[in-house]
Amino acid sequence: MTNTHPTESPTKFDEQFVTKKMYFVEKFLPPDCPKCRQSFKEEGKDWVRLLGDILDGKKSGRVTEGYQIMVCKHCENLTAQFLLDNYTISDKEEAVRLCREEGYVNLKELEAFGTSAVDTHTIYVKTKI
Ligand SMILES: [Zn+2]
Repeated sequence: MTNTHPTESPTKFDEQFVTKKMYFVEKFLPPDCPKCRQSFKEEGKDWVRLLGDILDGKKSGRVTEGYQIMVCKHCENLTAQFLLDNYTISDKEEAVRLCREEGYVNLKELEAFGTSAVDTHTIYVKTKI
């Protein structure tokens, strides 16, 4: 007895809507809370952004100039967060390595659509002059 599932043949049109997992890591200052000294490692757990530009699961894609305000989840201190750079890459092991060896934090899994699923490195502030 053969199992006959209807076979779906992907078309070019469908490929544009295929989502791909991407991994995001970032680097910013300060690396820990100036008041209680807790490390800022994971957004939502260690800090939240005051402006709320990330709404539950929906990224608005808005980028604020220069800095954002972070609220420490441990002591509620307000701190200006200066973004240095971030990576959005498809290689999870590389994202993990960047966190482990190069001081990046806040590893997040993202879903990217078709042509937007490309590795990017965004530099906000050059750390070497
Ligand atoms: Zn704190």
